[in-house]
Amino acid sequence: MASTSRTFWLTAAAVLAAAGGALIGAAGLGPEPAAAAPRADACAGRTDVLGVDRVIEIDTAEGPQFGLQQYKQFDILQPGEVILTFDDGPLRPYTTPVLKALEAHCTRATFFQVGKMAIADPEMVRDIERRGHTVGSHTWSHRNLRSMAPALAKGELELGVSAVSKALGHPIAPFFRFPYLADSRAMIAHAKSRGIGMFSIEVDAVDFRTRDPGTVHRRVMGDLKRAGKGIILFHDIQPSTAGALKGLLDDLKAKGYRVVHMVPKGQVKTLPDYDAIAEREMGKKAVASAAQPLARRSVVWPVQAGMAAAEPQPAAAERGPAAGPGTGTRQRTAAPAAAGEVLPWLAKPAQTPTATPPPATTPGPTARTPTAQPASQPMPAATPASAPPPARPPRPTWRTDETEPWQLRIFRN
Ligand SMILES: [Zn+2]
Repeated sequence: MASTSRTFWLTAAAVLAAAGGALIGAAGLGPEPAAAAPRADACAGRTDVLGVDRVIEIDTAEGPQFGLQQYKQFDILQPGEVILTFDDGPLRPYTTPVLKALEAHCTRATFFQVGKMAIADPEMVRDIERRGHTVGSHTWSHRNLRSMAPALAKGELELGVSAVSKALGHPIAPFFRFPYLADSRAMIAHAKSRGIGMFSIEVDAVDFRTRDPGTVHRRVMGDLKRAGKGIILFHDIQPSTAGALKGLLDDLKAKGYRVVHMVPKGQVKTLPDYDAIAEREMGKKAVASAAQPLARRSVVWPVQAGMAAAEPQPAAAERGPAAGPGTGTRQRTAAPAAAGEVLPWLAKPAQTPTATPPPATTPGPTARTPTAQPASQPMPAATPASAPPPARPPRPTWRTDETEPWQLRIFRN
């Protein structure tokens, strides 16, 4: 059952039930990650921990979709199996106890990280990988891609991939989860075209609705009891999950659940235009950190006019992700489109015609001009009207803010 970090790489994965045979196979042949070696001793022979019962290697070349709450393509788990996933981080105060709880059980998880968060604390991203976990992405700034113009939504996805890769120092897993689980046909097609696998969920910790670890614990165990297995969604930016995880893993072990760890067959291929933007943002973060070392962990993106209004999500927004795009009420932004949809790093220079999608040849913040507002764009460029009267064009700049960390905003899914 429980296996050590060394042995689980040799564990043969059963061929999966559904049509996943071609996509998913046993991950026993790949080299053991260097990071796993130091932990092997501590975990060797342990039968009192969850360990990792099975590793599945996922080939994302065709953009497969997992997670029965939304997608019915693959039922990858057997009864009693769980996959642990953590979204929205990293956020050190909560990601750290999550990692410790996982380590205490010699077990492994998948982290779907937000690009901005990763760039704000790249050391944390690297630490997650060093401990043997899988690092995927969850967009650049956790926008609802379903409610965005396709070109902008693609930019959100791509910059997220590039930013997390940049923070990690090499390409991440081609594993992606839609914020709010809000996919769209266009974005699914885009992810497929990029060889990126999409991961929905099967059990939701709903940890964003409570600060009480006990509530999270009871909910997850209750849902698992009913479902018998599942891809579990947690958020490593939530104190409830940070507090609950150790006890929850203890309980999973006690009740005989087994952890399955997902690893990618290959790495994501980032796009150079977005790598360049991510690189610039990393540079700005470094500058900000040097200027204000104490604020290193709360480097934030300035809230621009319109963006702030678009952020708050109604509490019910997360429910029923299986609903199609038609039932759009579950995911509404308070102030639709207009200003809120324009991402500063994707603003286009003047007179880019409609047809051409995303990052032109000169993408990125510096290409921006104050008057660049292609009239025919579905989402007119943001005019940070009420912002302090800057003579220069507004451009995305990192700033530090200890009093109101951007990261503490509740994301939900
Ligand atoms: Zn999320």
